[in-house]
Amino acid sequence: MIKAIVEKLIEKHKTNCPFTLAKNLNINILYEDLGSTMGYFSKDFRFKFIHINQSLNEKESIFTCAHELGHAIYHPDVNTPFLKRHTLFSVDKVEREANTFAVELLLPDKLLQEHADHSVFNLGKSVGIPTKLIHLKDT
Ligand SMILES: [Zn+2]
Repeated sequence: MIKAIVEKLIEKHKTNCPFTLAKNLNINILYEDLGSTMGYFSKDFRFKFIHINQSLNEKESIFTCAHELGHAIYHPDVNTPFLKRHTLFSVDKVEREANTFAVELLLPDKLLQEHADHSVFNLGKSVGIPTKLIHLKDT
């Protein structure tokens, strides 16, 4: 179950920051001019890379990094699709898994408990989850 794995990851590394987790897992982050692509994951031999479009705003980069980190962990040997705004809500299995990973990472139960006075929807938005993906959170 993706949620349980994400919780273990957060507990082990004491952070839910996708950038710090990538660093701890020896995944290089590259900011590039990617046109309409938000980001993608690639692997060269044993070297892993998360490519992020340099023109994204802070929240978009956080979500993109979290999504690609999901691929790095779940699909390291699959040629995963480039993340684009119009494919963000893809029903493709690997895309759905990467989105679920990102949502659980950015919106862990602990955060919901700490902000019990806020709705899941508002919290999700505040941490950078695209509104149409917030429903993926397993509460
Ligand atoms: Zn993807």
